[in-house]
Amino acid sequence: MKYKKDYDVVVAGGGIAGVAAAIEASRNGMKTALVEKTVFTGGLATTGLIYVYLPLCDGCGTQVTFGLSEELLRASIIYGPGDIPKGWENGVKGPAGTRFLVRFSPASFIIALDEILVNAGIDVWFDTLVVGTVMKGQQITGIEVENKSGRGIISAKCLVDATGDADLAFQAGAPCVETDNWLSTWAIMASSEAAKKAVKNGNAKDLLSFFIIGGDNVGRGAPEAGKKYLGTDSKNVSEFILKSRELLTNDLKKLYAKEGKEKRNDYYPLTLASMPQLRTTRRIDGLSTMKDDGHPKKISDSVGLVADWRKRGVVWEVPYSSILPKKVKGLVTAGRCISNERDAWEVMRVIPAAALTGQVAGLSAALAVKNKTNPDALAVEDIQSALKSKGIPLHMENV
Ligand SMILES: Cc1cc2nc3c(=O)[nH]c(=O)nc-3n(C[C@H](O)[C@H](O)[C@H](O)COP(=O)(O)OP(=O)(O)OC[C@H]3O[C@@H](n4cnc5c(N)ncnc54)[C@H](O)[C@@H]3O)c2cc1C
Repeated sequence: MKYKKDYDVVVAGGGIAGVAAAIEASRNGMKTALVEKTVFTGGLATTGLIYVYLPLCDGCGTQVTFGLSEELLRASIIYGPGDIPKGWENGVKGPAGTRFLVRFSPASFIIALDEILVNAGIDVWFDTLVVGTVMKGQQITGIEVENKSGRGIISAKCLVDATGDADLAFQAGAPCVETDNWLSTWAIMASSEAAKKAVKNGNAKDLLSFFIIGGDNVGRGAPEAGKKYLGTDSKNVSEFILKSRELLTNDLKKLYAKEGKEKRNDYYPLTLASMPQLRTTRRIDGLSTMKDDGHPKKISDSVGLVADWRKRGVVWEVPYSSILPKKVKGLVTAGRCISNERDAWEVMRVIPAAALTGQVAGLSAALAVKNKTNPDALAVEDIQSALKSKGIPLHMENV
């Protein structure tokens, strides 16, 4: 190995969950590193061009998700464009008919995240791929990474797996579960129509012309008899990327055939995702698993609330044990690779939930380091009281 660095907390994966975990760990006094294989933070939300920060409210006028999830939602539009929906400017209570969500420019969100990470004093390792785990028996003590400096070890007293694919948990030997995905593409287009609208409204936010094609979360719009793709098989991932981009190419060809070749000067792709747009790949089979019947249960080890983005009035409590892997010590997970299945995975794999579980994971890692223990040995009441002191409600009766 060419180098070895030591931290209190290392977060692998700089998506929304990883960013939230690193911020929370650092704000709790931990020497923290965030390791990200691309050159951007935000993961699917930014690199993947998934530009909708889904709601923090229940759809009936009550905010249910708070803390870093709200801080990051507000940060996503600091450098424009977009506004907090009317009535939700101060959060907590808002109009029942409007949801507390935003659409953001991925590039604007990235530069806002840069600023937050630097201000929080986090040591960011961009362009650094996690290639393995360092183990002492069942205890994970670090990660093996590869970057321009060669191969090295980054050690920590506690680690957070926010890779979206449970890479650390899997490599460390924790039981995991996989699922597959429909083809789809989200892109940003340039068009004279958007430009005209922007000029007419005197507002450049209309230049952000988003485009979605292919299967939605339940497969509507997916090519007929379409194959489904895994996110953990490299050939499968490459095929997914090519085939999903082909959906866009075919759509453009159809449009040019209908409206003439000159249309290519009037409407074309401006930005494509630079990570595969896979919704669910691999997640841990954790100490507990959120299941379809999780709502409307009161959960004793709840660490926060997440609204069902698909329905009004449906709110889920999130169990602390669902972010803890089986078998591996010194590791906590965050974001779309925590333990939940089917309907619960659908609710928990989105941006506001990733930010919430990231914050909980960062807090848990910090408390574990302070108490010289592992996240699974912490008293959940200690985590809950720290979250409550940050204004994060734990149960539905608290909002
Ligand atoms: C097509 C599609 C539509 C969606 N629609 C919405 C929507 O409208 N609204 C919404 O809120 N959510 C939506 N989602 C879900 C949401 O975008 C993501 O699930 C959420 O952002 C996940 O965040 P995360 O931090 O858990 O994981 P990710 O965003 O996947 O972040 C993981 C990070 O880890 C890095 N990484 C991975 N492996 C390694 C490694 N080995 N070494 C170093 N770094 C690594 C990645 O580069 C990435 O930055 C959608 C997802 C898809 C695919």
